[in-house]
Amino acid sequence: ALVTGASRGIGRAIALKLAAEGAAVVINYHGSMEKAKEVKAEIESDGGIAEIMQCNVADYQATEAMIRKVTDDFGRLDILVNNAGIAWFGLLTDMTDEDWSSLLQTNLSSVFYCCRAAIPHMVSVKCGRIINISSMWGTAGASCEAAYSATKSGIHGLTKALAKELAPSNIQVNAIACGVIDTEMNARLNEEERAALAEEIPSGRFSSPEEVAELVLLLC
Ligand code: NDP
Repeated sequence: ALVTGASRGIGRAIALKLAAEGAAVVINYHGSMEKAKEVKAEIESDGGIAEIMQCNVADYQATEAMIRKVTDDFGRLDILVNNAGIAWFGLLTDMTDEDWSSLLQTNLSSVFYCCRAAIPHMVSVKCGRIINISSMWGTAGASCEAAYSATKSGIHGLTKALAKELAPSNIQVNAIACGVIDTEMNARLNEEERAALAEEIPSGRFSSPEEVAELVLLLC
């Protein structure tokens, strides 16, 4: 299993969960090498198999090289979890071209790059699972997160279409539209903002990365 952005937060929890269930896991990271090493060490101390791979998934050449290394090292790629993502908060009118392009590349193009490189390996064995980590804002839309919402809506369209395209090859493609999950992505929020946000979620609370990981496991 390859989990993108698995050094921290939701991706970390997914990597730990899949490894605990017996998958050999590749922990992709971008800048947090020490944290990625900690995830690998935690998996190995529980008897699991893990490898770390540095790659900016917004870069298609680096991403293709990473997937090639995964299949070279492990001989196959059964599960791809496209989790890596960044947030951008603010008025759309304050967003620069660079901000827009970085968000689109990191959150949406990365899913395309990973899928394009991974699918031939899955099709050749007629088996695979692709899980895209998305957000409720991709369906509901969030004020001051218009571009982020657009990237997640894009993931929803890509997921539904790809699910149809790959179903005949026994490859299931799903997205999880998370509510609000307690990770560093929400570290900027103060107590008042957290409470206001929780009210927008049907459960009335932030969820844990482990709850998302349970759902990923179910879908696998
Ligand atoms: P965190 O900020 O806690 O972690 C982000 C992870 O993504 C890190 O491992 C980071 O790696 C990695 N990452 C970021 N950019 C890149 C890149 N260019 N290439 C490779 N890896 C990258 O975020 P969360 O765990 O909260 O979010 C994970 C996913 O869940 C995202 O797609 C997010 O949009 C989605 N989500 C989160 C919600 C939330 O409330 N937290 C709600 C809904 C969806 P590194 O540290 O090594 O740079």
